[in-house]
Amino acid sequence: MKQKLADNLARIKDEIAEACLRRNRQPSDVTLIAVTKSVEVDTIRMLLDLGQEDLGESRVQDLTHRNAMIRETINRRRELGGSNPDEVIHEPRWHMVGHLQRNKVKQMLPITAIVHSIDSLRLAEEVNTCAARLGLNEKVPILLQVNTSQERQKYGLAVGAVGALAEQIETLPNLYIAGFMTMGPLTEDKEVSRFCFARLREIFEELKGERVVGDDCKHLSMGMSQDFVQAVEEGATLVRIGSALFEY
Ligand SMILES: *Cc1c(COP(=O)(O)O)cnc(C)c1O
Repeated sequence: MKQKLADNLARIKDEIAEACLRRNRQPSDVTLIAVTKSVEVDTIRMLLDLGQEDLGESRVQDLTHRNAMIRETINRRRELGGSNPDEVIHEPRWHMVGHLQRNKVKQMLPITAIVHSIDSLRLAEEVNTCAARLGLNEKVPILLQVNTSQERQKYGLAVGAVGALAEQIETLPNLYIAGFMTMGPLTEDKEVSRFCFARLREIFEELKGERVVGDDCKHLSMGMSQDFVQAVEEGATLVRIGSALFEY
């Protein structure tokens, strides 16, 4: 099973690299996030052993639980350390990719590298307040989730609302907008997904041009198992992949 996982990981990275080449991008500019919401903790351990450190979860409860289990493994291995000095212990970098409730922010923040799913001012304000209370000494990187397909999804900002919200959020002292996130529509037609990804990139470029967001705003989190190739071609820097990685 570990071999199959390694093969899937290598194949997906190859496809990302090929999509980069077609658009004169550097493969190192795209980070693969393994979305582990559907798998066992053992599989997460295997991913880490394979060097896959960027991991995504969509529920805070899963995130905290899994992080605790993984930390336990890491601590145990550190204690046993010395038996194999060549062993590299990989630390997870957790991405919160799913819809977030305000009452879960406090638990999530201390273990999360990037919050991908900010879609209201109230939620951003909660992140801002919790970051202060927790005494985090770095600003929290957040992504604004945009509903580029304007259908199906309950979550994400309307395209027309992003600019005004971004301006308000940028005034909060304890977080910064590190980029934007979107989900492609539920469709077999990958060109429809491509259109949504291109739309997100336009929003990003527009707000950068108007200096609503700063130089540290550089991420486009878009593309999942079905449509990550199109997303990378349209400029994704973070792709969130679950099922394609775990099919055996
Ligand atoms: C589950 C999930 C993914 C991964 O989806 P796959 O189709 O399994 O690759 C990516 N992003 C979000 C927000 C998710 O909830």
